[in-house]
Amino acid sequence: MSQTFSQRLLRKLASVVCPARPAATVQFVGAGPGDADLLTLKALRALDAAEVVIHDRLVGADILALVPDTAQLINVGKAGFGPSAAQEDINALIVQHALTGARVVRLKGGDPTVFGRLDEELDAITAAGLTYEVVPGITAASAALAGIGQSLTKRGRNKAARVMTGHDMQGFADHDWRNLAQPGEVAAIYMGKKAARFVQGRLLMHGAAPDTAVTVIENASRADQRVIGTTLADLPNDLTQAALSGPALLLFGLAPRDAEAHTIAQQEVS
Ligand code: SAH
Repeated sequence: MSQTFSQRLLRKLASVVCPARPAATVQFVGAGPGDADLLTLKALRALDAAEVVIHDRLVGADILALVPDTAQLINVGKAGFGPSAAQEDINALIVQHALTGARVVRLKGGDPTVFGRLDEELDAITAAGLTYEVVPGITAASAALAGIGQSLTKRGRNKAARVMTGHDMQGFADHDWRNLAQPGEVAAIYMGKKAARFVQGRLLMHGAAPDTAVTVIENASRADQRVIGTTLADLPNDLTQAALSGPALLLFGLAPRDAEAHTIAQQEVS
């Protein structure tokens, strides 16, 4: 039977000396934004060796298909504002499996350190006297930026960029809107779909230009990726019209490069 690319890759990797790593009981692995090609080799190795994989809703079927049949797959998916497995139950589940001595992979969408409730799970692990390793992944913002051909930072435009969430446990999240409203500022807003109108209101109230570019990227890096270029003024209406169903990231202060090129061309003509 012919081998899949990942099987061939794993065979090859087996012959490559891998850097010594501590005998971690639990590996917190970033699954990346969705495209299985964006998994790291380290993540692939971890999945291949896993006996128990505890994963989030955001981890897609392509990546779960790389988990060996012999491993137990547990979905603890949580939806924004929706029904969710309690975080304490997830912590307990990880600890319970790790205490059996099984090789546990906690598989999280994107990078585990970005809006991933990682600290709570690490605290539970260490409180139980277990060890861990964090395997970074490509975060949704990186994939979204790649999808629109823009940089997160750019000389002469922004020396810093924000990574923010649209909502937190208390509801819509508050931020330093006054600073973000300044020209040239850039923010990657996670979980921003429901908060779009709130974010818009706060930024306009603090003086942001209504025509500031905002790009919404749904399903970044996946085959069904959609890019909606809009402005702060039109954001809520355009979002409603787009009727997004997948995870989406808002890039505040950035337009898709093509749209930017279009605007420049128009200006040059006139
Ligand atoms: N740890 C993840 C983020 C988890 S929070 C990471 O590093 O990417 C969940 C939010 O991430 C979603 O609400 C959405 O805003 C964003 N997100 C995750 N995957 C995405 C994707 N493929 N495309 C667009 N946004 C995504």
